[in-house]
Amino acid sequence: MSLRTLDDLVEIEGHRVFVRVDFNVPLESGAVADDARIRASLPTIAELLDRGATLVLASHLGRPKGKVDDALITRGSAERLQELLGRPVTWLAHPVPESLPADPVVMLDNLRFDPGEEANDPAYAGRLAELADAYVDDAFGAAHRAHASVSALPELMLASGRPAVAGRLLQREVEVLGQLLRDPARPYVAILGGAKVSDKLAVIDALIDRVDAILIGGAMANTLIAANGGEVGESLVERDRLDDVRATRTKARDKGVLIEVPQDAVAAAEISLDAPRQTVPATAIPRGLMALDIGPRTVESYAHLIADAKTILWNGPMGVFELEPFSAGTRGVAMAVAHADAFTVVGGGDSLLAVKKAELDDAFDHLSTGGGASLEFLEGKALPGITILEA
Ligand code: ADP
Ligand code: MG
Repeated sequence: MSLRTLDDLVEIEGHRVFVRVDFNVPLESGAVADDARIRASLPTIAELLDRGATLVLASHLGRPKGKVDDALITRGSAERLQELLGRPVTWLAHPVPESLPADPVVMLDNLRFDPGEEANDPAYAGRLAELADAYVDDAFGAAHRAHASVSALPELMLASGRPAVAGRLLQREVEVLGQLLRDPARPYVAILGGAKVSDKLAVIDALIDRVDAILIGGAMANTLIAANGGEVGESLVERDRLDDVRATRTKARDKGVLIEVPQDAVAAAEISLDAPRQTVPATAIPRGLMALDIGPRTVESYAHLIADAKTILWNGPMGVFELEPFSAGTRGVAMAVAHADAFTVVGGGDSLLAVKKAELDDAFDHLSTGGGASLEFLEGKALPGITILEA
């Protein structure tokens, strides 16, 4: 699979390019609290401006459900972008204005303020299409959704003979994650954690066809342990997924893929900073306690497997890393991955936050900007925002 990219845009000097960015950023009183996603789009924006294009940028933000929500306007992102670019960004208080000012960089308001966005409405996409001569998609985080700005809009652009291509961020995501699907260096180890096994069963199933080992942490480990008859106390468990989990383990055994679950856990009666905690066997969590992090023996054994890997994919924290007393497992795994002599990829909003907290962002080969999108991509699914850009 290969994508059309900025290299395929020939005549753009003086032309208006619609750039679908992913500025779905956390806000604190209207200001951008974490600008990683804005920074990630800078290469594409700078390259287009260098080549003399004028830009109209657009993103979704949160879930306003087709109505204007003052708490979810994109003005904060436009302001942050202006600082990062060092040139004016004109923000328009509308997701699809009738016309655009001639300013070189214009940013629209939250696309999801219009119900046409999530409905993939061709009429709405048509109004967006009128704003530009070419289309660039750099919003990997939205690529798994068939929404107007990533699906109907590029379709319309192509149908009317205008180019629709991937920006540098989207291009790199597809190159890196595509490599993990095609021909990863072995051993290939996946580390999966986070809150819910139901979010990640499909990707675990798909990864069994490709990896050598899967190391499980986070709350989802409890569901695997419970499915094997372990005692998990009051830990978060998805009882309705026990059969699915057993089927997944059978598949792994048949394929010779190692699925590792924690040996020990840090447990407490409640999720709080000062709750007394103890390290206990992960299959024998005492009554009244919850497993809230993987224990030190698990970190050590995972670190050995990680050290031998040549490709590592990590998605999902190993414990309640937001609270210091339950963050050692996630930090330990992050350090092991950072030091491995392997190609390392991390994805997932919370996982990225954990990597940042440990100040290890530079130690990974690729920080994927897409949570759901990267998981669906790694399942081998066709993503609507990507197929439309294929050459
Ligand atoms: P990501 O955003 O990286 O994909 P998820 O959203 O799947 O990760 O999961 C992250 C959440 O899982 C965090 O809020 C974390 O506190 C929670 N979590 C991890 N381990 C546990 C656990 N043992 N018990 C309860 N919650 C957990
Ligand atoms: Mg998350």
